[in-house]
Amino acid sequence: MNADRIPFNKPYLSGKELEYITSAHRNGHLAGDGPFTARCHQWLENGIGCMRALLTHSGTAALEMSALLLDIQPGDEIIMPPFTFVSTANAFVLRGGIPVFVDIREDTLNIDETLIEEAITPRTRVIVPVHYAGIACEMDSINAIAARHGLSVVEDAALGFMSSYKGRKLGGIGHLGACSFHETKNVISGEGGALLVNTPELITRAEIIREKGTDRGRFIRGEVDKYTWQEVGSSFLPGELTAAFLLAQLEAATHINEVRVETWNRYHASLAAAEAGGLLRRPAVPPECIHNGHIYYVLLPTGVDRKEVIDALKCARIDVAFHYVPLHDSPAGRRHGRTHGRLEKTEKLAQRLLRLPLWIGISPTQQEEVCQGLVRALENAARNGIGKAGG
Ligand SMILES: *Cc1c(COP(=O)(O)O)cnc(C)c1O
Repeated sequence: MNADRIPFNKPYLSGKELEYITSAHRNGHLAGDGPFTARCHQWLENGIGCMRALLTHSGTAALEMSALLLDIQPGDEIIMPPFTFVSTANAFVLRGGIPVFVDIREDTLNIDETLIEEAITPRTRVIVPVHYAGIACEMDSINAIAARHGLSVVEDAALGFMSSYKGRKLGGIGHLGACSFHETKNVISGEGGALLVNTPELITRAEIIREKGTDRGRFIRGEVDKYTWQEVGSSFLPGELTAAFLLAQLEAATHINEVRVETWNRYHASLAAAEAGGLLRRPAVPPECIHNGHIYYVLLPTGVDRKEVIDALKCARIDVAFHYVPLHDSPAGRRHGRTHGRLEKTEKLAQRLLRLPLWIGISPTQQEEVCQGLVRALENAARNGIGKAGG
């Protein structure tokens, strides 16, 4: 029995955050788009390989900017998985868009690309692949479908920072990509995000929308002698203190992801026998995907009472978590969205999913305790005469 509780998450600090914040304070430039923001933009453009990166207040704000930038009108349809965070849908609903929920794949829990084409109607405008657990969607197929039907692709890469698909970093593959630097993600700034623009024609308008709909960016660069209201926009840019914090994290991003992937791999090795014994299913990573160790989840056998497992682990002072309540099954999702076909896989898989503690600093011994606690809870559940691991 461990004396200390094993928390589900612990934010990581690189150690340089306060130094950079002090420097921003000394610079006397505290509003957005100062030197630290410029350095973050450059880091993201080089690190991800996108044409233009723009810091935002949050991943949510980056998604909202996407909807403005793509000029979403009432009645436009946006294809997305139901197994995602509310912001994926909400950002488009704010513009009158209608989320169309398409079922997910059994292996990666990402949108099932083979179901997308049949969900397309004359009102469809956008496909939003969400890279669940930092493991990429089948982007070649999704981009090909979008090209065939003249649709835009907005990657929700909030969970996939610096993960890749066929060698390309997530968020840099669709027309637009959204990153999140929320405290719960790999690389953080408390609240924070970025919009990644991979389409040259969208860059200028993205800058305008982010600066309250004005061409202030052009003014600062000396390209115009005054700035004026150009477009419907809002204030989407964070201040320099946030950017200073974020730069310290970006510079540590490779280290952060390496340690998280090692931690992920340790769970994966420890739970191999449990999977072979039918007690659980481990995550699947397609060979073309390199992930960032953001989430380690397991799928419990059909029929196991997840709440019982969570409670048993809580008694052992181990915090685990389930994840999204599928959006089509939420009050606002039912009101604002519609489903394409039956969402059987989403409904089954979302109920079986359990995320294990994963943070920088969790020790191999603590991870072993988590695995043993989980296996014990699942063996008890199995002894109570419940089914076998499916899928
Ligand atoms: C975290 C998250 C968001 C929202 O990011 P915030 O920075 O918290 O606004 C959007 N989509 C997904 C899939 C997320 O996990």
